[in-house]
Formats: sequence, C-alpha cells, structure tokens
Amino acid sequence: MSKHVVTLIPGEGIGPEICEAVRTVIDASGVEIRWEYEEIGLDCLEKFGTLLPEKTIQSVAKNRVALKGPTTTPVGTGHKSANVTLRKVFDLYANVRPALSVPALKRPWNNIDMLVFRENTEDTYAAIEHMVSSEVAQCLKVITWPGSYRIADFAFRWAIAHGRKKVVCVHKANIMKMTDGLFLDAFREAAKKYPEITTADIIVDNCAMQLVRNPAQFDCLVLPNLYGDIITDLCAGMVGGIGFAPGANIGNNCAIFEAVHGSAPKYAGLKKVNPSAVLGSGIMMLRWLGETEAAERIDKAMNAVLEEGRRVTYDIGGTASTDDYAQAIVDKMREQS
Ligand code: NAD
Repeated sequence: MSKHVVTLIPGEGIGPEICEAVRTVIDASGVEIRWEYEEIGLDCLEKFGTLLPEKTIQSVAKNRVALKGPTTTPVGTGHKSANVTLRKVFDLYANVRPALSVPALKRPWNNIDMLVFRENTEDTYAAIEHMVSSEVAQCLKVITWPGSYRIADFAFRWAIAHGRKKVVCVHKANIMKMTDGLFLDAFREAAKKYPEITTADIIVDNCAMQLVRNPAQFDCLVLPNLYGDIITDLCAGMVGGIGFAPGANIGNNCAIFEAVHGSAPKYAGLKKVNPSAVLGSGIMMLRWLGETEAAERIDKAMNAVLEEGRRVTYDIGGTASTDDYAQAIVDKMREQS
C-alpha cells in the first residue's frame, strides 16, 4: 500500500501537461504516493452541471492534501472562478507563496528569499458585485477581524516554524481606514503573542516600489487577498518569471498545493511551458507530508538542470519541451543518487 494518497487535479489549459510532468518527477524521487485523479473546470460544467464536482470535493476532503493545476476563468463575463470556489469550500484561508531567487537565472535581483502570506477568502475576492445603475458597478471589499487575525496568526506561526525573523503587514489603511485599518489592527493584536518576531507595516504601493529597489530587506509579508495576488506576481517576475512561483492554499483541514500562474490557454497542448512552479508546489507538498529527503532530492536536481541550462524550457531561453525538462530532472536525480 502507498504511504500517501494525494488528490491530483490537473486543471485546464497547460495544467494537465504540467501536472503529468510533475508527477513523473515526484514518482521518480522514490516517495510512495497513490494519486487520485479528479476533475475541475469547464468540462465538468458540461459533464456534471458544475465546475467543481462533488467527487472532487469528496476526494480532497478524504485525502486532505491535493496537488492542483490551474483553471481558466473568463474575464469580465461568464462563470465564476472554480479555484476561488475550491478555496471557499475548504476554507483555505492561507495562501503561502515563497519567492526565492533561482541562482541559475541571472536576474537584476539575486537576493530574494521571502515568504508571502496572502489572505485567501475575503476582500474584493468575496465577489460581491452588483450594478447600481447601467453605468455604475459596485464591488464590496469585505474584511473581517477573525479573517484578518487568523491569517496574521498563521503567518507568525509559519514564520517561526521556518526560522524566519520578521513579518511585515502590507495594507492601504491610510485610505481604506476601516477595511485595511481592521486588517492592520488584527495583525498588531496577533503580533503580541509572538514577541520573538520583529514586526512592521508598509503601504502597498510603497511595498511594490521597495520590492523592486531592495527586495532583500523583506523576510515575510502578510497581505489582504487582492494586494497579495498582485504582489506575488510581481515577486514571481523578479525571481525569474511566473514559471518559477510555487504556492500552497492551507486551511485547518486540508492543503491544496498549486502554482501562482494560470492556465496560459495559448500554450495549452504545446508541451512547451515550464513546469517548475507546479514542481515547486509539489516540493512544498512533500515537505508538508514530512517527505523532506525526497523534496531536497528534487530541489537539488532541478537547480542542477537549470544551472547546466541545456534542457530547459523556452521561457528561460531553452528549447526543451515540458517533458524533456522533467526527464532531465529525473536523469539528474539518478546521477546524483
Ligand atoms: P497566466 O499565468 O496563465 O499567464 C500569464 C503569462 O505567463 C502568459 O504569457 C503565459 O504564457 C505565461 N505563463 C504562465 N504559466 C507559464 C509557465 N508555466 N511557463 C511559462 N510561461 C507561463 O495568466 P493569465 O493569462 O492572466 O490567465 C489565464 C487564465 O488562467 C485565466 O483564465 C485566469 O483566470 C486563470 N488563472 C488561474 C489561476 C489558478 O487556477 N490558480 C491563477 C491565475 C490565473
């Protein structure tokens, strides 16, 4: 019997081809995982009348851990995000997104080592919108004390468990005094429990500028949902592109690991995109499962392949396919063992 059972949700667009490549690498690391494939997205709407089938929900609820590819959400019109629904169903309130410079990629910023904690269930992402008139649309920004306190508390606990020293709250409480003000107050209240951690706060626009100017000054950031979404894409761009930004959505009962990037529909089926972000999410998942050795083995092999630069994908100047890059990591693991 396999040691772990993990729900694998390949998702849409480039999701399936990336997830398959990542599965190959994880399986080759020697860790024992039985993968339970489940569906999400537009195909499900046609097949089951819902974007998020009950079977997928049941599988995640049972296994309490999932690896997920991206889904597609139309801009402006059409269906709601299946991804946001999944986060709501399991109350995955903490979105953890590490931003770590990749030594092999020569970037203007080579000293980034941050953990970003994005609140994952509230803010404008509650998607409470309506038309006031044909010319006026309104969106509610919902920030609650419990929601703000628990993400701050989570950030402090995670920071301590991972040897971090400083947590900075990012907000716009100078303008949104009630909503962002509440987020900041809850952060300050939670901080009282963790005197060993240094704290500070910064206004989000200044944070974006400071990140580009001197990212090494930041250790951990905690942000409301929308700012977190934007700032983590900025961080992804700085470390080497969206193909290198992993993440985890964590709640009290389960964890779903997925990349920051989306389904990149224009590349779907071409097998040319970079699977590193989903693989990085897989590495986070292995650590979450206590499989530290397998996680380190993959990480080391991936960095060696990137360093050699011969079998890498187009986004970092290579010509390798998604599968060939994954196979290069598998080959490297064998070479290094
Ligand atoms: P995207 O992340 O899919 O693509 C942005 C850019 O990055 C594109 O140029 C794309 O080609 C490139 N890119 C993305 N992943 C890459 C990879 N692994 N390797 C190399 N290049 C990569 O964002 P988008 O175009 O704004 O959104 C496309 C769809 O994805 C939308 O429907 C959006 O709603 C959805 N989306 C889903 C998630 C999720 O499921 N977690 C997250 C973000 C966006």
